[in-house]
Amino acid sequence: MGLEDNSIEFRLQVPESDRYVGNPEDYVDAAEYEALLQTLAESDGGGRRGAPPASKSAVEALPTVKIESEGVVCAVCKDLLGVGDAAKRLPCGHEYHGDCIVPWLSSRNSCPVCRFELPTDDREYEEERVVNSASSNSNGASSSGGGGGGGGGGTHIV
Ligand SMILES: [Zn+2]
Ligand SMILES: [Zn+2]
Repeated sequence: MGLEDNSIEFRLQVPESDRYVGNPEDYVDAAEYEALLQTLAESDGGGRRGAPPASKSAVEALPTVKIESEGVVCAVCKDLLGVGDAAKRLPCGHEYHGDCIVPWLSSRNSCPVCRFELPTDDREYEEERVVNSASSNSNGASSSGGGGGGGGGGTHIV
């Protein structure tokens, strides 16, 4: 009975296949992805916390024109505007039935076709818009700040 048995080799065999291949849970399944997109689309819808309606005066100021050519479609009701019909023309040049575009503009301020934005009565929105449309507008007439930001550039030296 010697103690000769202590030479047993004790080797751990780690199978090759036990390595990390990747975590299957990293893959978002399709439905989840879809839902994510949906959420993004919703939070982005219409841009900036929803557009306000066009201002009444802007809507009233829209010129009423006579349709002079065939094939003009009112994008609100998708109907043709007949030649000789009275229509409202937006500043962007798109024409609509007065009965179609006026209610439309009472809930949002943009042209249904090209998204041209009409003035609104929403001061906050207007200010934001001035900021967003960068400094293309250099007259400070409607500048709200009390400071003397006279010249148009938008550069502010502190
Ligand atoms: Zn119409
Ligand atoms: Zn338009």
